Amino acid sequence: MQITALYPGTFDPITNGHLDIIQRASEMFHRIIVTVALNPSKSPLFSVEERIALISESVKHLPNVTVTSFSGLIVDYARQTGAKAIIRGLRAVSDFEYEFQMALMNYKLNNEVNTVFLMPNEKYTYLNSSIIRQLNQFEADVSEFVPPCVVSALELKLPRA
Ligand code: ADP
Repeated sequence: MQITALYPGTFDPITNGHLDIIQRASEMFHRIIVTVALNPSKSPLFSVEERIALISESVKHLPNVTVTSFSGLIVDYARQTGAKAIIRGLRAVSDFEYEFQMALMNYKLNNEVNTVFLMPNEKYTYLNSSIIRQLNQFEADVSEFVPPCVVSALELKLPRA
């Protein structure tokens, strides 16, 4: 069976933790759609177009991965795209409660779509996009945590750039 999976998130910006999850998912599913959630209540550092471009550059070696954006409910986007799985990353117990609630609600809204949780390599469990944005503000070296295109894009966001 050829299953399409969605990997939704904010990706502001994509990190090596996200990439670890995408790599694993791309080996499990026929097709992965990494999709940037348009959330009007957040004010992101990178525009949707910038985030899509950075993700696309970072996954260009994975032929079964495409990158899009969506607004509204992820379960409706799953119906539109024919996806039967939603991928989420679980880093620690602290992620669990929120993810558990979302997964159950999404299943209630559309019982044709299952949420699949993947754990990244333990070296990425402390990593998230907001820490990267903060480190960058203080001009710390983030090259260990994000793909090279993100390092350059972050430099351009510094006030002096
Ligand atoms: P959201 O705002 O939806 O949490 P994120 O871009 O922060 O969006 O994350 C998208 C998904 O990637 C979530 O399932 C999150 O748990 C997962 N994720 C984020 N960072 C990591 C990481 N370092 N390792 C594994 N999964 C991660």
